[in-house]
Amino acid sequence: MVVAPSGAGKSSLVNALLERSPEIRLSISCTTRAPRPKETDGKEYHFVSVAAFEKMQREDDLLEWAEVHGNFYGTPRDWIMRQTEAGQDVLLEIDWQGARQVRSKYPEAIGIFILPPSIEALEARLHNRGQDAPQVIARRLLAAGGEFAHAPESEYVIINQDFNAALAELNTIVSAARLRFRSQAARHAQLFSELGIPHTPAPV
Ligand code: 5GP
Repeated sequence: MVVAPSGAGKSSLVNALLERSPEIRLSISCTTRAPRPKETDGKEYHFVSVAAFEKMQREDDLLEWAEVHGNFYGTPRDWIMRQTEAGQDVLLEIDWQGARQVRSKYPEAIGIFILPPSIEALEARLHNRGQDAPQVIARRLLAAGGEFAHAPESEYVIINQDFNAALAELNTIVSAARLRFRSQAARHAQLFSELGIPHTPAPV
């Protein structure tokens, strides 16, 4: 799970990671937020009405959901279940509230918190993106402080000062996660059974 307030550069990092690592799949969230000028339905998000979102909540179709900056966001459960059952690694780009819910269901999920190098850099990124109205930017900046307070809940922290360095760090974390016993055992089930390795790690 990649967690960060808006403007920390999370999406650019995640997109660059996915380009290099096609074996990782990104979950496309549903949101009630209006699409930004360059966004396409089904690519960045599934853009849905509040009524449609509430129906998904009622029918328990969301693995997690949260209200962020006055809009609803949620992760479709069905897609995640199909991917994880097929042994596929999935990446979620969500806020801290969603990350908490995912952690309670999948304790092995890894949280990576992306920080901007300074408050000024965060503000500059939100303005330079040029896709949100000034009052929306002000609201997001105000909220960022509260979101940073949840950084300690993540296992890893990346400070996004230099894009390439941050991307290399993200790659390192993902590579290490893919080498964990459970991931390797799922990916190489036949080898593990040929070698007589028990399928679950021994408790420590
Ligand atoms: P934005 O509107 O800038 O795309 O996203 C605003 C915030 O919502 C970001 O912190 C982003 O990580 C979070 N977010 C996006 N999708 C989801 C989701 O499915 N669940 C949760 N809990 N947060 C999400």
